[in-house]
Amino acid sequence: MKTHEQALGEKMRHFEKLCREQGVPLTVQRRAILETLALREDHPTADQVFEDVAGRLPGLSRTTVYRALETLVGMGVIHKASHLGSAARYDPNTGRHHHLTCISCHKVIDVEEGIVQRVQLPKAQAKGFEVMDYSVHFKGYCPDCLRKGRRVTGTARA
Ligand SMILES: [Zn+2]
Ligand SMILES: [Zn+2]
Repeated sequence: MKTHEQALGEKMRHFEKLCREQGVPLTVQRRAILETLALREDHPTADQVFEDVAGRLPGLSRTTVYRALETLVGMGVIHKASHLGSAARYDPNTGRHHHLTCISCHKVIDVEEGIVQRVQLPKAQAKGFEVMDYSVHFKGYCPDCLRKGRRVTGTARA
């Protein structure tokens, strides 16, 4: 079993490698943002990333965080998921994978590709379109919300 520190170290080295390969300078702000994303598995929004990082970097502006996130997305260092709710969520997992979204607390959980590997667009519907990528989005209630009985009060707006 990997410890939490080892897992974080691995993710940061992976980010650093991607930044080097893409020629993205790793500023203090970008590093702090990547660290926050590496630590969180809940696919935070830009505002959540800002709240996390602002505590460590006084004077940091929301705009800087928004811009840094977009830069990192553009370089393929992180992914942006826009289909998970009203606000875009940022994802440190850049491999192909799928998502489980809780419609009550809006938690987003990764699903590794294996279990939904065989999704295929029927030929008749593809109409000559060559599919390069896809993702499957499962919606429902997370175990925490089910335990708290939040099933009925959940807003299904996601
Ligand atoms: Zn939930
Ligand atoms: Zn994800």
